[in-house]
Amino acid sequence: MDIAKRYDVLILGGGVGGVAAALQCTRLGLKTALIEKTILWGGLATSGLVPIYMPLCDGKGRQVTGGIAEELLWASIKYGPGRLPREWADGSRGSRPSGAQGISAAAEAATADEELYDPGSFAKRFQTFFAPHAFALGLDELLETCGADLWLDTLACLPIIESNAVTGVEVENKSGRIALQGRCVIDATGEADIAFRSGAPCQERGSYPSMLYQATSLELARKAADAGNARKVVTWRGGGSSNEMDKGYDGSSPKTMGTDGKALSAWIMESRRIARKHLQADQAKAATDAALGRENLYPAVLPTMHQIRMSRMIDGQETVLTDRMNQRCDTSIGLIADCRKSGAVWEVPYGALLPRNVENLLVVGRCASAEGYAWQVTRLIQSCALMGQVAGLAAQLALAGRTSPSQLDAKDVQRAAEGCGIALHL
Ligand SMILES: Cc1cc2nc3c(=O)[nH]c(=O)nc-3n(C[C@H](O)[C@H](O)[C@H](O)COP(=O)(O)OP(=O)(O)OC[C@H]3O[C@@H](n4cnc5c(N)ncnc54)[C@H](O)[C@@H]3O)c2cc1C
Repeated sequence: MDIAKRYDVLILGGGVGGVAAALQCTRLGLKTALIEKTILWGGLATSGLVPIYMPLCDGKGRQVTGGIAEELLWASIKYGPGRLPREWADGSRGSRPSGAQGISAAAEAATADEELYDPGSFAKRFQTFFAPHAFALGLDELLETCGADLWLDTLACLPIIESNAVTGVEVENKSGRIALQGRCVIDATGEADIAFRSGAPCQERGSYPSMLYQATSLELARKAADAGNARKVVTWRGGGSSNEMDKGYDGSSPKTMGTDGKALSAWIMESRRIARKHLQADQAKAATDAALGRENLYPAVLPTMHQIRMSRMIDGQETVLTDRMNQRCDTSIGLIADCRKSGAVWEVPYGALLPRNVENLLVVGRCASAEGYAWQVTRLIQSCALMGQVAGLAAQLALAGRTSPSQLDAKDVQRAAEGCGIALHL
């Protein structure tokens, strides 16, 4: 197949990992393509209806993750609700190193916007609720001005491989099947589709059917009106095993790994059946309370991508290990904090982004290499954004040195990350 277009960097998947990579690559002047199979940027964080931008701080008052991960946080609330705890603005609780995390001027300006802070914010950590589709508009704005070549509604199908190195990808869209070349390729598909199809060893971890969706009701509308708060017009409702550790689910429906097309289709149908069952149970109460009837209580927004938390990830050259919590990692490319526990921070090794046996490829986001509980942290939005940004930095170094990202000295990647204000060590 003839090469239709040539890029410095080809990024497959436009979730937060892919978006962060695209922003970093274009800021370094690289000719970049970002390819997304749906029509929204943001992946699970937008199409998947995820509502919380998890903490950039360690829970003990220190901001540990910044850079593009922080820019995306501000973008998540630019066109919709969500506020940061007041303490992060005035320094009374958190040491927010203004500018030190290397965020853009626009994001820096947002940090000074008093309206975006709230003394009554639901959490004390540097995190916020956001409306997924407001986030999608914020991402549009960042991407349309960054200079990346944006491909929506375009499925990355097959990697093009030459002597163990990925040199491009065949994609399919309304134009048919075309081949795109990338001097460096970043897999941000969430399921390591490109790494897997390139022959990289991977691991899989499945999820039981579950569904998180937005519902609205007369009661909610009344409460929203009373509170003068439009955000309360919708609520998040869930059914099935929303607990990613699979506790509390009866297991009556099979798990899926998210990597078998037919099994995944069945899983999605089962997730929606569970949601329907919950809704029917509520609406059945309409005989005694009209506010619960079908006219007054119904789903407002369903997710438009599957909500599998953990699917396939690479078995990388290094791995984020659960028992390395709060331990130093010599090849660290940044810090990520657990949202469940205060003071639980991991240093992410550069090798977690590098698949084995395949050259010219970086893998970011929830399909980067992690193990056990640590995967619960690497898959959070801010962690995916951090990895995306660093992959962009590594891609530039590899291109400048005419080498593969796996051949880079981690110290060079660390220097580049530090140059962007990313903190490497605890
Ligand atoms: C129900 C649920 C609730 C969650 N709640 C939270 C929360 O509150 N806070 C939090 O921080 N995290 C939460 N998470 C986790 C977090 O949202 C995700 O792990 C994170 O957003 C993943 O980002 P990503 O970029 O790695 O992958 P994804 O968001 O999966 O993005 C991958 C993108 O690649 C695209 N893609 C895939 N294959 C291809 C292909 N072949 N060609 C082209 N495009 C492709 C997809 O369409 C998608 O847009 C939740 C997850 C789930 C499932």
